[in-house]
Amino acid sequence: MKSPVETEILIIGSGLAGAVAAISAADEGKQVLIITKSAELKSGNTPKAQGGIVYTSSGDTPEKLKEDIIKAGDYHYWNKAVDQLCISGPELVNEYLIERFKVNFDLNSDKTTSAELSFTREAAHSEPRIIYSKDKTGDSIQTATLKAVNNHPNITALTDHTALDLLTLSHHSIKSADIYEKPACFGAMVLDNQNGEVKAVYAKRTILATGGLGQIFLHTTNPEESIGDGIAMAWRAGARCFNLQFIQFHPTTLFGSKDRFLISEAVRGEGGKLIDGNGNEFMQSVHEKGSLAPRDIVARGIHQTMLDTGQPCMFLDISFKKRDWIEKRFPSIYKNCLLAGVDMAAEPIPVVPAAHYSCGGVGVNLAGHTSLKRLYAVGEVACTGVHGANRLASTSLLEALVWGHEAGKDAAQFQEGDDYFPQIESWVEETEEIDPALIAQDWLTIKNTMWNYAGLIRTRQRLHRAQTILRNLQNEIEDFYQKARLSPSIVGLRNGIQTANAIITATLEARESRGTHYLLEDGE
Ligand SMILES: Cc1cc2nc3c(=O)[nH]c(=O)nc-3n(C[C@H](O)[C@H](O)[C@H](O)COP(=O)(O)OP(=O)(O)OC[C@H]3O[C@@H](n4cnc5c(N)ncnc54)[C@H](O)[C@@H]3O)c2cc1C
Repeated sequence: MKSPVETEILIIGSGLAGAVAAISAADEGKQVLIITKSAELKSGNTPKAQGGIVYTSSGDTPEKLKEDIIKAGDYHYWNKAVDQLCISGPELVNEYLIERFKVNFDLNSDKTTSAELSFTREAAHSEPRIIYSKDKTGDSIQTATLKAVNNHPNITALTDHTALDLLTLSHHSIKSADIYEKPACFGAMVLDNQNGEVKAVYAKRTILATGGLGQIFLHTTNPEESIGDGIAMAWRAGARCFNLQFIQFHPTTLFGSKDRFLISEAVRGEGGKLIDGNGNEFMQSVHEKGSLAPRDIVARGIHQTMLDTGQPCMFLDISFKKRDWIEKRFPSIYKNCLLAGVDMAAEPIPVVPAAHYSCGGVGVNLAGHTSLKRLYAVGEVACTGVHGANRLASTSLLEALVWGHEAGKDAAQFQEGDDYFPQIESWVEETEEIDPALIAQDWLTIKNTMWNYAGLIRTRQRLHRAQTILRNLQNEIEDFYQKARLSPSIVGLRNGIQTANAIITATLEARESRGTHYLLEDGE
């Protein structure tokens, strides 16, 4: 192993949360190293965000936003965190995104109010307070933010570098007495994806910004890098994680597309009907509003009918409308369906619900500090207490911005002991090549088990079955991980199974069926 690399602040992940944390810490004059496992800095869930980010419009107040957030989250919230988001969120959107990064948010087309931002309202928002950049808000925000990262003299950015594990005094120091110190993190072990080399990166402070975990489920809107690495690393390091049972599912995504493309709820709003493979309108027997029932109920209705009928997807039919009208009303959905070989003007769209957002994660305080000394977590990997048991639309980019800013600032305030970097054991490079078929099959097991037993509808029996399957699999994977020549795919598999098991444990421990965690009594 090469001698350790040293930096003042290490940030793992270059989505919005990691990028803002990097800028915020670098503004304080600290040397920042930001790494991402992807080939490009622009990666993760951030560029996928379509709808927008919460700001504030005339007539809106922090109190109104707070009320909407806590209602959506089924009143399972941390008061101080929601206050922080509602009060400083809009200020930081203005400071960073509008004034500093100059994100090209859509402007009002009304010439009399030229240069004013255009606002939209989304489901469960009492005010039209969301700003957006066409239907690719996350991409526009991330392009502008990464420009600032690349231009900052105090930031070094490395792509194609995968964090394997956090370095902690209790797990890695070779000085035995360090076990008596308060648990602390002093960096991470990092794999260079290109040459397979593993190096220790020592850091006074480490910030986890690894994003979501949707890819541990069979169907997801998340890109392939979102497999919960941060939760897995934090869990192994002994940092407190919570609310992991709360996974938000989107009801209708395009079945057959690589990254499940969202089929907006507006298609059902315009009369689109959900049918099964035999043309039966199954939602009528689930809810009085049929296909227009609330999001959670539709998602569960689709899922249950898939289980009952053994069909791999359901269908959303709006083909009774004229082609011209469909093309004009839903241009992007129409185009993406055609790319996937579906002509929505002539046939029903195959749809499945999909894992979309993780409301829980590594527990943090208002500054993004975790339960481990010198370790922070920001963005989707963190659990701030804002989203509670379910997330209000367009609040996650805002949370990534607010906690990214706070954590970067806080991490830059070094304290005594932050420059303690103990010696660690040399890394032993193993050489066994792992059969790719094992990795592919193990992922299928994880994704299917999580989808069917720990997805939209859970029972204790299903969860116990999942636990047995996944614990056994984890033992097997750990066994071959220890002997394997390391590659991003082995590291990812080890993290994916760890995160899946963490979710199962949290879900079995959850005391109540609430928000996105829908638990049926066995036999119900
Ligand atoms: C389809 C879709 C639509 C959405 N729409 C909206 C919306 O309209 N409004 C809204 O507010 N939210 C939306 N969200 C949610 C929002 O996009 C995410 O919650 C947010 O972008 C998360 O940002 P992040 O910085 O925490 O993580 P990400 O943007 O996911 O970034 C994670 C980073 O960590 C890196 N990484 C992961 N593991 C490792 C590792 N082991 N080593 C090194 N690097 C690693 C990844 O490569 C990536 O760079 C949407 C999400 C999706 C999927």
